[in-house]
Amino acid sequence: MGAGIAGMVSAVKAAELGLRVVVLEQGKEDDYLCNTRLTSGIFHCAMQSASVEPKQLYKKILENTSHRADTELAHTVANEALESIRWLQSNGVRFIKGAMPHYEFILSPPTLFHQNKGWQRKGGDVLLNLLERKLISLGSFLLRNQKVTSMSRPKQDSLIVEAVTSEGAINHFKAPHVVIADGGFQSNHSLLSQGISFQPEKLFQRNAKQSHGDGMLMAQSMGAQIELNQGFYGHLLSRDAFSNDQLWPNPWMDPLATAGIVVTSKGVRFADEGVGGIFLANQLARSNDPLDAFIIIDESAWNARGRINMQSPNPKLIEVGGIHFCSNSLKELALKAGIEFNALNATIDSHNLAIASGDFSKLLPTRTTHPHQPMPILGKPLYAFPVCAAITYTFGGIKTNSNGEVLSTKNLSIPGLFAVGSCTTGLEGGDSAGYVGGLIKSTVFGIKAAIKIKHQQTQHSKHATTHSE
Ligand SMILES: Cc1cc2nc3c(=O)[nH]c(=O)nc-3n(C[C@H](O)[C@H](O)[C@H](O)COP(=O)(O)OP(=O)(O)OC[C@H]3O[C@@H](n4cnc5c(N)ncnc54)[C@H](O)[C@@H]3O)c2cc1C
Repeated sequence: MGAGIAGMVSAVKAAELGLRVVVLEQGKEDDYLCNTRLTSGIFHCAMQSASVEPKQLYKKILENTSHRADTELAHTVANEALESIRWLQSNGVRFIKGAMPHYEFILSPPTLFHQNKGWQRKGGDVLLNLLERKLISLGSFLLRNQKVTSMSRPKQDSLIVEAVTSEGAINHFKAPHVVIADGGFQSNHSLLSQGISFQPEKLFQRNAKQSHGDGMLMAQSMGAQIELNQGFYGHLLSRDAFSNDQLWPNPWMDPLATAGIVVTSKGVRFADEGVGGIFLANQLARSNDPLDAFIIIDESAWNARGRINMQSPNPKLIEVGGIHFCSNSLKELALKAGIEFNALNATIDSHNLAIASGDFSKLLPTRTTHPHQPMPILGKPLYAFPVCAAITYTFGGIKTNSNGEVLSTKNLSIPGLFAVGSCTTGLEGGDSAGYVGGLIKSTVFGIKAAIKIKHQQTQHSKHATTHSE
């Protein structure tokens, strides 16, 4: 269910192992939209290269997630990250190497920091087309325009999946194994309001808007354990992203936020900027008003942190007309942006004092200096950028074991039911909004699920043969 990278990897691997597979995808178009097509294509593992020692990767996953990651899932990703990339390569997927250590495997042709339709005939688009051709060559197939609407188990050894076309035709598919790979619940406001944000309509949808948690709800109805409040992978974007397509999925405003301060229109901070942009996006989503946030920095931060690559806010945001305020006077800046001046002045003073003294303990909320070092807000001009919380995919979802088997509320695997990719939980999230990597997670567990299904199928056939003998 779902033909993004997770579903397609699982399908191709299963077909390679000799199983017959049908992939049901709700999208109608040849290049149906999904997060895999929009991806920047960096196959990292907790922001490390997949070729780093597994022990080190494991440590990093636990560190990034403040030890929230399920250790079995973390071990599996750490141990199999590189091998899963090698498997993609053996199927013709090409990668290039970028300048940063965790850019060792970037989908080729690269889509890094693209805007609009910049994904077409690149990265994830090429990968999905290639996997579909491979699937067909192995005698299995992908059916478009099949929105899965329900799942049931009328008999012990088979599941029935119901899918509806856009014309209203209803189809039923019977299979011993079903793999849910519908990409998460980031576009379902009702589910988002149960743990991500009280005002989900104020979050910017930095994704393909195709994933509504359908699979998760179906799995739940079959007894699966689910989690809704693990946060999400996302970034801070210019608030103008709501009206200007040039401002999403990039440039992220994170590097500016982590250099300076992020305040509400009352001039007060609400989160520790030093933790990073993904964390800030989560905190903003949870705040009283997710559309009330401004990054405040000075000219040195604008030039140092705002200008990391071609698609950084400096100059990209300005080039595409993104909203920003700039002034040599803090009073004027506050007035232009609609921020309370006295409070802002006091917040900036405390920030500068903490940097000068090296004592951040008096700041509320506290400010960590690692991994993101703060910069003083002193030089002229000063800048204010209205930002929003942009959600890419949810970290919560269906609980699985390391073979992708869906776990019940009693922690037992539910026969025949698997889930892989961004619709699963357990690896990422927690208080620090720990991000491990959507692509590596999808590929590793996509492969693992297929191998487990093959194994179960073989056991089942042996059992049947013994029985008939
Ligand atoms: C802009 C952007 C940049 C990113 N950059 C990176 C990156 O550099 N590195 C990284 O690791 N991750 C990145 N990610 C995240 C990564 O792309 C995703 O985690 C990954 O592609 C998810 O794959 P998936 O197969 O789980 O979901 P998807 O690719 O979203 O596929 C899910 C599919 O399920 C289908 N579906 C949904 N509901 C139903 C239904 N009821 N019936 C049938 N089909 C259904 C959808 O139509 C969709 O095609 C990025 C994501 C975005 C949006």
